[in-house]
Amino acid sequence: MVGHGGRWRLYTRWPAKSRFVCRGRCITGGEGECPVRSLGGISLASVATWLCVLLPCAFYFLVALPTVIRRWNPQPWFLLPLASLALFVATVVFLLATCCSNPGIIPRRQLVLATGTRASITALLGHDLLGPEAMQPSGDPLEDAQKMVDIGLRQRGYRWCHTCEIVRPPRASHCRDCDQCVMRFDHHCPFVNNCIGQRNYHFFIGFTTAAMLLAAMVVPTLMWCLFANDVQQEGSKMAVAWLRLAAYVGCYTIAGTALLLGVLWIYHLWLVLRGKTTKEHLTGRRALDVSGEPTLCAPRGPQLFDPHAWVDPAALPDSAASSSAHRSGALAGLDLSNPAGSEAWRNEGAIDV
Ligand SMILES: [Zn+2]
Ligand SMILES: [Zn+2]
Repeated sequence: MVGHGGRWRLYTRWPAKSRFVCRGRCITGGEGECPVRSLGGISLASVATWLCVLLPCAFYFLVALPTVIRRWNPQPWFLLPLASLALFVATVVFLLATCCSNPGIIPRRQLVLATGTRASITALLGHDLLGPEAMQPSGDPLEDAQKMVDIGLRQRGYRWCHTCEIVRPPRASHCRDCDQCVMRFDHHCPFVNNCIGQRNYHFFIGFTTAAMLLAAMVVPTLMWCLFANDVQQEGSKMAVAWLRLAAYVGCYTIAGTALLLGVLWIYHLWLVLRGKTTKEHLTGRRALDVSGEPTLCAPRGPQLFDPHAWVDPAALPDSAASSSAHRSGALAGLDLSNPAGSEAWRNEGAIDV
């Protein structure tokens, strides 16, 4: 992996908590979101999500669907399996895309300098991510929030991120779980172990929509298989009591999960119609002008870094040290992006969300 005079591929020395997989082709979140801790590099919450999709579908396709077709003999018989399969494939593809795609990560200062991409990112974003060319951040969050962000940009909602040491756009936020700023940050989702932002929000909506439709097809069929009298009589000859109990518990768990998914989908539909992100709704803060950037039907936005670029590791910050600094800043209750409203930020316990 080492080449070009001791330099490394960027994805092997990524200075934040996110992790690259498939040799830098995919990126996933930083784990550790309370209350679920990671297990062997895979968050329990995302494992639960995959199990909630795969287990009921396996039972549906292998047992429940053949039983339905045998007993009801729907015509044409292949319509139901085909529709179910299409929804299952859509759910898995959208889930994978949400878990493993770049949500719109904004590279931190040292990364921009190490890769020499200041000019190209400035052209893409329309403002200099690093602030005025002649100035360097002092390390004092309040001072930098004033001097590193031009007054004109501040009035338009641009803010200084002390952790990344960059000027971030109005709807971007710093994800504490992934330790990086994300364009049009919506929220960090532990169930897909990734941020949901400008570049993967439509994948997330696609996943919740497909999963909800799939659940509407799978859950009633599973319930019917479990509770229909004639099916029960047929199955009781072979089934043992504990297996039937597990089936009841599993079925109700899946039904409850599907219900929660429906609530989540309705909530995001409401957000899309209002043009808000989850973050903006929960905090009550809103960018001044979002008319040109709807949350759903907006351009996906460019990728602001190349994971395969060659970098000198010495030019990049240590991820752990950076995270530690971030946490100590949070403990100090410092407000980095909104000095005028520091009390609200202290209440959130966030340094530069
Ligand atoms: Zn940041
Ligand atoms: Zn995140």
